[in-house]
Amino acid sequence: MSIAPAEAHGVVREQARERRIALFGGTFDPIHIGHLAVARAAERRFHLDEIHFIPTGRPPHKHRAGMASYADRYAMVSIACADHPKFVPSLAEAGEGQSGREVFYSVDTVKHFKHRPHSAGTHFYFLLGADSFLHIPTWKDYETLLGLCDFIVASRPGFDVAALRLVIPPELFARRGAAHAPLDPRAIPLRRTVVYVLDTVSSHVSATDVRYRLDRNDSIHGLVPPRVEEYINKKALYR
Ligand code: ATP
Repeated sequence: MSIAPAEAHGVVREQARERRIALFGGTFDPIHIGHLAVARAAERRFHLDEIHFIPTGRPPHKHRAGMASYADRYAMVSIACADHPKFVPSLAEAGEGQSGREVFYSVDTVKHFKHRPHSAGTHFYFLLGADSFLHIPTWKDYETLLGLCDFIVASRPGFDVAALRLVIPPELFARRGAAHAPLDPRAIPLRRTVVYVLDTVSSHVSATDVRYRLDRNDSIHGLVPPRVEEYINKKALYR
């Protein structure tokens, strides 16, 4: 009997494991160490192969005057991802001419990733903070979105992870003893997917605070990666 080349090299198990990709959307205005701490914690706990950082074009819920341009936000995300082999900057919401002027909805972005030609056999997660998840009922087609992939909800100081259940419509919960129910008692099994709680990270940093400090000429040292700080200074962003 001949041995398949993969077996001969002892990599059968590695090949059989499904790829795990997390989609991490955000304004990233700018990206900060809270985002990176969340992504690293998720990578470790869920053995993720890739985390795609997806700056939103025109955020449907968060548009405000004085936002950095899409190009600057994407550049900062790329710089922050450079030292992490599994962090991938994504142009998925760049839109026409990469202008970043279009509104994208998470439900469409997740579908886009799932329907890519090489996505068969990939397990997708949607990564977000507890504050964002608590607003999910305001998102386009959120009931559909909750059924498209698993969710990893990172705890964030000031937001109660016990409240996550309250924003999920009762009819979406899995039946008791559902086959895919995880062992983790804090995870919330839905009919087709699971909402996991990631509470090993607790970062007080927010982009609002970073912008506020810059506006007052206060230091942001340690709140964003050093090269992102350099970029912000060079381009005099948020002043
Ligand atoms: P802003 O202060 O402008 O509202 P932000 O710091 O919340 O911004 P976003 O780019 O809006 O940053 O966040 C992208 C995602 O990362 C969101 O799901 C948000 O909940 C999550 N996130 C941001 N900061 C943290 C943090 N410190 N801990 C946990 N999750 C976070």
